[in-house]
Amino acid sequence: MDQIKSAFDKDRNYIWHAMNRYSPDSKPLIIERADGVFVEDIEGVRYLDAMSGLWCVNSGYGRTEFADAAAEQLSKMAYFPMSQSHMPAIKLAEKLNDWLEGEYIIFFSNSGSEANETAFKIARQYHEQNGQSGRFKVISRYRSYHGNTMGALSATGQAQRKYKYEPLAAGFVHTVPPDCYHCPVNNNPENCNIECAGLLEKTINWEMNETVAAVIMEPYITGGGVLIQQDGYLKKVEKACKKSGALLIMDEVICGFGRTGKKFGFMHEGISPDIITMAKGITSGYLPLAATAVRKDIFDTFKGSEEYDHFRHVNTFGGNPAACALALRNLEVMEDERLIERSKSMGEQLLDIMKEMLSHSNVGDIRQKGLLMGIELVEDKITREPLNAGKVNQIIASCKSFGVLIGKNGDTVAGFNNVLTIAPPLTISTNQLQLLTDVVKKSINEVCKG
Ligand code: PMP
Repeated sequence: MDQIKSAFDKDRNYIWHAMNRYSPDSKPLIIERADGVFVEDIEGVRYLDAMSGLWCVNSGYGRTEFADAAAEQLSKMAYFPMSQSHMPAIKLAEKLNDWLEGEYIIFFSNSGSEANETAFKIARQYHEQNGQSGRFKVISRYRSYHGNTMGALSATGQAQRKYKYEPLAAGFVHTVPPDCYHCPVNNNPENCNIECAGLLEKTINWEMNETVAAVIMEPYITGGGVLIQQDGYLKKVEKACKKSGALLIMDEVICGFGRTGKKFGFMHEGISPDIITMAKGITSGYLPLAATAVRKDIFDTFKGSEEYDHFRHVNTFGGNPAACALALRNLEVMEDERLIERSKSMGEQLLDIMKEMLSHSNVGDIRQKGLLMGIELVEDKITREPLNAGKVNQIIASCKSFGVLIGKNGDTVAGFNNVLTIAPPLTISTNQLQLLTDVVKKSINEVCKG
C-alpha cells in the first residue's frame, strides 16, 4: 500500500504530464502491464483500453514477438544514423512501399510532429528547386491536429492547442473542415456536393496559387472530433491540389495502419498523395518511430550538386534499428492476422451495436470508419448545442469506473469538446466489443437520464 501511495506522490512531484492532470482530485493511471486490449494499473485494476493508448496500439498489447524483434536487433546492432543505412530500415522501407501501393522514398523520424515538419520542408524545397521559391504556404483545416512542434502546431486548426503559444510560424492558412453535422455551408447529406472541398480550392486561389506549397490533411479528422466526410471529398481535394501545383500531404499518423479499415485512410478514395506521414501505429506504439513517404518522382527532383544541397535535414534517432525491426514485425503480424480486414468488420459491428443510441435525446451523431468512432453529444438535437462539458466528463469517468477507457475530443476553447472517441486495438473480439459498448451505453444513459 505504501509503495502505491509513494508512486502517486513521486509521480506528482516529478512528472510533467501532458494535458490536464493537475486538478486536485485527478490521479493518473499508473499502468504496469498490458495484454491484448487490456491494461492493468499498479493497484491491479484492469481496464479495456478502448483508445489503444493514444490511438497507437493497433496490434494489441503484450506481443512478445515485437519485444523479441527489438531485442534481437539491439543486441546485434543498436544504433547507426540514417545518413548511412542499415538493413532494418531498408526492409521496412520496402515493406512500406508494398503497403502504400506506389513508389515512395522514406525519410524516418521519431514522431508524427517530426514527420509533418519533414514534409513541410520537403514541400518548400521541392518548389524552390523547381524555380517556384514563392510557394511557401501550407493550407490545413480548422479542427485538425498535426503535432506539437512550432510548424506542425501552426498547421493545427484547434484554438485550444495554440492560443497560449502564439504567434506561431508564418505561412500557415486554415480553411473549413468537412464537418457534416455542422456543415460550414449549411448543406445536408441529401444536397451535399462537397462544397467544403470547393472552399478549400477557393482558399488556394484566394491565397494565390503561386504562393501555396502544400495542403496537409488527415484523410478523416480524428482528434478534432472524428469527422467522417462524404466520399468524393479527398478526390476533389486531390484534383484542386493538382490544378494549383500544391503538394498534397496526407497525415496518416492516426488513420494509417488499419485504423479506418484500410491500410491507409487515403485508400478509401483511391487517391495518390504526394507525401504521406505516419507514426503511432507503425510500431503499434511499442517504440517511437515515424516516417515521411515521398513520391519517387518528387524525390527525383532533389538533385543538389553539393552534398548539403540535397536536403538539409537530419534526424539523429529517426529510423532507429530496433524500432524499424519491430515495425516490420508489426506489419507482418497485421498481414498474418488480417487485422485490416478485421478493423473493417469489427467497426461495422461496433456501429451496428451503437447506432440504436441515436434515439437518445443527447446523442446527436455517431460517426464511424473501421475501428474509429466518434459519438457527438448534444444538449438539444435541434440546435446541436454541445452537451455540457461536465456531463461529458462524467460519462468518461463512469466508463472508467466500469473498467473501460474511452476518450473525448473537440476544442474546448472554441466551445465544443463533446465527442466521445472509441478506437480500440484492431484485435478486439466480439465479446470485448460487447463489453465496451454495454459500458458506453450504460454510462450515457446514467449520466443523461431523460
Ligand atoms: N498528426 C496527427 C493526426 C496526430 O494525431 C498526432 C498526435 N496525436 C500527430 C500528428 C503528432 O504526433 P506526435 O505526438 O507523435 O508528434
